Amino acid sequence: GRGSAGTLAGATETIRATGAAERAAAGLSIVMPVYNEADGLAALHTRLVDVARALKTRWGLACEVVYVDDGSRDRSLAIASTLPADGIDVQVIALSRNFGKEAALLAGLEHARRGAVLFMDSDGQHPPTMVERLAGHWIDDGFDVIFTAKAHRKSESFLRRSFGRAFYTLINWGSRHKIPEDAGDFRLLSPRAAAALRQLPERNRFFKGLASWIGFRQLRIDYEPAAREHGTSSWNFGALLGLSIEGLTAFSVAPLRIASLLGLLLAATALLFGVKILVEVLVFGSDVPGYPSLVVGLMVIGGAQLVMIGVMGEYIAKILSETKRRPVYFIAEHSVKRADETAPAA
Ligand code: UDP
Ligand code: MG
Repeated sequence: GRGSAGTLAGATETIRATGAAERAAAGLSIVMPVYNEADGLAALHTRLVDVARALKTRWGLACEVVYVDDGSRDRSLAIASTLPADGIDVQVIALSRNFGKEAALLAGLEHARRGAVLFMDSDGQHPPTMVERLAGHWIDDGFDVIFTAKAHRKSESFLRRSFGRAFYTLINWGSRHKIPEDAGDFRLLSPRAAAALRQLPERNRFFKGLASWIGFRQLRIDYEPAAREHGTSSWNFGALLGLSIEGLTAFSVAPLRIASLLGLLLAATALLFGVKILVEVLVFGSDVPGYPSLVVGLMVIGGAQLVMIGVMGEYIAKILSETKRRPVYFIAEHSVKRADETAPAA
């Protein structure tokens, strides 16, 4: 009766509590890619220190922050190097040049010294106040991948939104595994999810896709991104297009399938057209006006072939860059400050 149900609930509670304690013991690494963020970095670090303190109090969770300087041309690296390890371990990794955000995230993931990993932008758009909530879904609820999605994209232009929608339609087209739309890089990975991501051998990584592809228990959280406090976004339309092609070719063969379908469609049309001409000549004995239809046909087929070759070229380029097996980044400088060490006077 009631008594046993009560005991059962109690037992579940105990199991959950034990699991939570074990999870919290793994600690959390906050990975922050930094590219020309000198203006806001110190203030953001102060907020992170507060967050780390709250996590320590609530779960006994030990935190580190990993700043990955992605070849900034401003004082970002100098500033990151002076940030105090105030209740939080601080790692500063300086890449040898600008390798791009995905490479910086990988450098952080590979050097994270705690179990769980949180990806977070260093421009203040990913609110530090949300970290505790994300950590709660991992520690208390046992989720492995807690990813965030922008609640709405009103601030973005119509063109960029349509582009985004087309991208997700294409990347998810015909694939068994759907990548959630609008998911950002603000994401917490449990230790086993982080380990899974480290195991992937590919050089060109598209973390948004991969983090969802690995599976485990995923949770989506909608949030309102803050406005960028300093500087400007480094994604112009060209860079976004590049990332999209990167993501598409890494994740989906939809463009190749579309090319094949297009080829089939054109071939079928040509066949029907041929039959029509045959019937006209043989049955009605009419003169077929050849020249215009010839030119149109040539242009359509020529264009379609060029597009398909281009699409194939993208995949071949991907194969080439993967077979070279080059390292994704080089580290120029690396420093680790323990929270218990006294911070050097800045
Ligand atoms: N970033 C980076 N390398 C780059 C470009 C950007 O590490 O080549 C970092 C940047 O410092 C920020 C995050 O990636 O922390 C997101 O960049 P941004 O704000 O420009 O992108 P958006 O928020 O517009 O997507
Ligand atoms: Mg940003």
